[in-house]
Amino acid sequence: MIVVMKKGATEEQIEHMIGRVEALGLRSHKIVGTERTVIAAIGDKRDNHRESLESGPGVEEVVPILAPYKMASTEVKPQRTEVRTGSLSVGGDRIGVIAGPCSVESEEQIVNTARAVKKAGATALRGGAFKPRTSPYSFQGLKEDGLKMLATAREETGLAVVTEIVAAEDLDLVAEYADVLQIGARNMQNYRLLEAVGSVQRAVLLKRGPSATIDELLLAAEYILNAGNPNVMLCERGIRTFEGHTRFTLPLATVIYLHQKTHLPVVVDPSHGTGHTYLVPDMAAASIAAGADGLILEVHPNPEEAMSDGFQSLTFEQFDETMVKCCKVANALDRKI
Ligand code: PEP
Ligand code: MN
Repeated sequence: MIVVMKKGATEEQIEHMIGRVEALGLRSHKIVGTERTVIAAIGDKRDNHRESLESGPGVEEVVPILAPYKMASTEVKPQRTEVRTGSLSVGGDRIGVIAGPCSVESEEQIVNTARAVKKAGATALRGGAFKPRTSPYSFQGLKEDGLKMLATAREETGLAVVTEIVAAEDLDLVAEYADVLQIGARNMQNYRLLEAVGSVQRAVLLKRGPSATIDELLLAAEYILNAGNPNVMLCERGIRTFEGHTRFTLPLATVIYLHQKTHLPVVVDPSHGTGHTYLVPDMAAASIAAGADGLILEVHPNPEEAMSDGFQSLTFEQFDETMVKCCKVANALDRKI
């Protein structure tokens, strides 16, 4: 339920109602708006306390939260959330662009890529140090050494670092180096991991599971928000369908739908979403046209020799061209990159 306070309700009345909500065994979440304050009352219980809360001092009305996710919903927070960390801002005026290799392979590779993508306009660097691979025989990432190389690339370029965390027990280690903790598609429903990243204030990029519904994605985000971390970005990275010509099917209507249902920023990943380099630039531009708040793109100095996902990675030159194309679309729609 949402307890909507009257315009001009006093601080004392607001605090009183927070106390009442908590006394009913519900979690309270106060949201101070420009016009009025609302208190979200979150818990498993149904609306049976509605009338008693409605008679509280300074209360305008009590309305149910219809969405299954609560703190992620626009019903609780209509104002868009902007996630900022270092050089990266997503959900504000400018579109954020996260670019870099699928995997960190060497210091030279990650530093050169960071320099190239920054020059072309990227606002953050991606690179996997812990790689969740389908086969146990595939390259698993450089782990802590890879994290250190990412930190070097950040020192060299000033770009914020986005890197994946695959297990809750790695939180301290990954958080020591990363500006953004990426939860990969395979881990979207690893609830202990979601709670772990919710226990810190570090920004989180939550990727959609290939077979997860949008509601499941939003409920996964709810785990992180409910654990206390409001800095969540959602990422559409394609879903598994019967279509075999693309690695996944990238549904861009997700962006528009999410913007109606949630205040959290939405990033699109056309690299994993298509699985083919030649499809990436146009799908990146299309993501901007659909209203994406950010892009995450795989870029490699020599995709042919990449240790993972070379077939969907852009060269530096292709990334430059993609940025030019995306800027044109953004400008046409009065948006900035
Ligand atoms: C990645 O970003 O390299 C990755 C593994 O993505 P996903 O989790 O979306 O498959
Ligand atoms: Mn990849």
